[in-house]
Amino acid sequence: MKLHEYQSKAIFANYNIPIPSGKVASNAEEARQIAAQIGKKVVIKSQVLVGGRGKAGGIKVAATPNEAEQLADQILAMTIKGLPVRKVLVDEAINIAKEIYLGVVVDRAAKCATVMASAAGGVEIEQVARDTPEKIVRVQVDPAFGLQEFQARDLAFAVGIDKALVRDFVTIATGLYRAFVANDASLAEINPLVVTAEGKLIAADGKIVLDDNALFRHNDLEQLRDIDEESPAEARARKAGLSYVKLDGNIGCMVNGAGLAMATMDVIKFYGGEPANFLDIGGGAKADKVKAALEIILSDPNVKAVLFNIFGGITRGDEVARGIVDGLREVKTKVPMVVRIVGTNAEEGRKILADALMITAATLEEGAQKAVAAAQKQ
Ligand code: GDP
Ligand code: MN
Repeated sequence: MKLHEYQSKAIFANYNIPIPSGKVASNAEEARQIAAQIGKKVVIKSQVLVGGRGKAGGIKVAATPNEAEQLADQILAMTIKGLPVRKVLVDEAINIAKEIYLGVVVDRAAKCATVMASAAGGVEIEQVARDTPEKIVRVQVDPAFGLQEFQARDLAFAVGIDKALVRDFVTIATGLYRAFVANDASLAEINPLVVTAEGKLIAADGKIVLDDNALFRHNDLEQLRDIDEESPAEARARKAGLSYVKLDGNIGCMVNGAGLAMATMDVIKFYGGEPANFLDIGGGAKADKVKAALEIILSDPNVKAVLFNIFGGITRGDEVARGIVDGLREVKTKVPMVVRIVGTNAEEGRKILADALMITAATLEEGAQKAVAAAQKQ
């Protein structure tokens, strides 16, 4: 789950990270009031869950409350990378002397968190990583000790922080790391961390991505979820307890198990197809879940065929098959359905599915090939 800039900054503030004073507004009048309260130049920032808002024109500086109102009105009417702007953050404007990147991510290969910093801040870090990877410095953090001061100091020197600001940089970097750990984040990022003309460090932007699998132990963070930002299909999947990620292909995937879902997508691609989604219906696969999953998959107009890849383990194959048939009965569709089912009671399951006019396959290879062929025919 991604947090908005204003939400991320509010969390940063609890970890000794300086942020500009400001408030979020949902209409132009509110923006004007906030600007008047701040009483100096402000920056109006669209709150959408994508990067590159600045380049897209979603960030503007206003000299007066009236101008803040006008600009907020303009920005609130914008759609950035497909996302309508529903809120703006009105922040005290900063005089930027230098923009630095500072972020904490999970480094899977190293099995620890890694803190990254770059003197090439402001622009998207993915671009820096592509074009000039040598401009990013990294330190790996031992989870038993946390980010050590000497490590933060090394980063400060590597990105050319002024001696007088090193102590503040260390406070910010260690604060960011603690915020990352305490909130079970997969990413915590300040881009840019600004060196102001007055010689201070301040977080001008903030981004936190939370690990959905840890949200159950952060009730307070779950409250921050912005349901307006979720697609209807994603919201539906979350409520039904399904893991669903929409992709750009045309073969819908219905699979029980996340690893199996990944393997299914790989095999579809191997045979020249493109998966339309990742979907893990989890254990059980009862009719109501299958029905919800099928409706979600079919709500994507690109879907030209659906491949079911089911492993009958603790849940027997015939049970899953009955769930699928019951689900299909309620979701009327002409989209071809290919099913591969193995494991406990697979034979019985296959018979039930063949009776329901589904295309059956004995192996995943065969299933993927049949699904690719069926999608091409449509
Ligand atoms: P992003 O484009 O979505 O990453 O949004 P940011 O919050 O990072 O803003 C993009 C750019 O706008 C920053 O890199 C700054 O150059 C500029 N910007 C943001 N806030 C301020 C501000 O208070 N004053 C000034 N002068 N520029 C700002
Ligand atoms: Mn940014």
